[in-house]
Amino acid sequence: MAYLEPAPIHDKENPLDSMMSRFNEATRILGITDEMYQILKVPLRQVVVGLPVSMDDGSIKVFEGYRVIHSTILGPSKGGIRFDMGVTLNEVQALAAWMTWKCAVVDIPYGGAKGGIACNPRNMSAGELERLMRAYTQAMLDVFGPDRDIPAPDMGTGPREMAWLMDEYSKAKGMTTPAVVTGKPIVMGGSLGRVEATGRGVMVCALAGMERLRINPYKATCAVQGFGNVGSHAAYLLQERGVTIVAVSDVSGAYYNAQGIDIVEAMKYSEQNKKSLEGFAGAEKITNEELLALPVDILVPAAKEDVITEENVHNIKAKMIVEGANGHTVAGADKVINEKGILAVPDILANAGGVTVSYFEWVQNRLGYKWTLERIERRSDRIMRDAFEKVYDTAQKYQVSMRIAAYIVAIEKVSQTYKFRGGY
Ligand code: NAD
Repeated sequence: MAYLEPAPIHDKENPLDSMMSRFNEATRILGITDEMYQILKVPLRQVVVGLPVSMDDGSIKVFEGYRVIHSTILGPSKGGIRFDMGVTLNEVQALAAWMTWKCAVVDIPYGGAKGGIACNPRNMSAGELERLMRAYTQAMLDVFGPDRDIPAPDMGTGPREMAWLMDEYSKAKGMTTPAVVTGKPIVMGGSLGRVEATGRGVMVCALAGMERLRINPYKATCAVQGFGNVGSHAAYLLQERGVTIVAVSDVSGAYYNAQGIDIVEAMKYSEQNKKSLEGFAGAEKITNEELLALPVDILVPAAKEDVITEENVHNIKAKMIVEGANGHTVAGADKVINEKGILAVPDILANAGGVTVSYFEWVQNRLGYKWTLERIERRSDRIMRDAFEKVYDTAQKYQVSMRIAAYIVAIEKVSQTYKFRGGY
């Protein structure tokens, strides 16, 4: 069967190329047709808008904004809005596709989308950011919608921006519509449990993996790279379940203690120290590269993309990698990970706890009812656990890595749904 090779999304190796190469491998294994390949690859809709915004100094600046709907085969599209100088349509396209696979892996009824505005939020006042977000929302009134396309925060945006979006959309439609966006402040319909949701999903995947590898959590050691939202909560929750966290890190460096680091202390320290572990006394300082090479049972990368490469993958001694960060492992390193027999739980599964609780936020908004934290945790744990088992079994069935298996699960679900729904 002849395959149409997709044009590379970027010139050099980057997380998005890495994603496409795994997607291509999964489609080959599944033997999907060229037609289906194109349906799954090409975005459904792409909107580019110019946004004139009044700046505080009286000038008017025109920003470029994007929204790419990659797929609505499984349901309304879902994906964050990124405020960053480097945002391009290309990047947004690839991130939108990523969302399609992530939602499909955890079996939530969403397609994938992504949005972005090329801007530098750090150099803009709250007023300028508010006008920009409201202008973007106005421009996307016929794109967004609780049954159509549901944005969320991403790099450079947070609950504050989502509140402006919800307000602007609600005013334009003449009715309060909280379900149009997730990641809102809790007082206005945000969900309990969202903050720790991604780290919690990492913990659930790590425990499921330990069970498969017959590792006793009480005897297990773990190193966590990145001590932000995902890394710190994953570390805390794993420690709570008996795992000894021997190393944590952030941009300031890595911190190692063979006896175990007190994560509650480290979280307090980082919080009081402008989100930095610099000077943390409970451990010896090592480098982030050394952290990756520690002889631990579990490695949790939760910092940034492109960390495990062809060059350093040989140094890894962990039995399991649970990828909190997106695009953490470049595709070129997959082979060595597989040869070493490391169980790598891929990003599109391991960090899907966040989008799962975002889905719960949308469900609660639609119900007009608030769930308890206990209910949210119970339900998200079950979704993450079921997704892990499905991907693990698929890996066994096709004799592939969990990474390729995750893409297989996602592509099978979306392509089968498409066949039932039908096209023109
Ligand atoms: P964050 O900004 O809260 O934390 C990032 C942490 O990584 C910080 O401690 C920072 O100091 C550290 N870091 C940054 N660059 C580093 C480097 N070069 N070396 C070592 N440490 C470094 O971000 P987050 O929300 O925790 O996200 C982390 C990763 O997880 C990202 O890849 C993100 O895309 C992914 N992710 C996050 C969520 C979520 O819900 N927050 C969901 C899915 C995926």
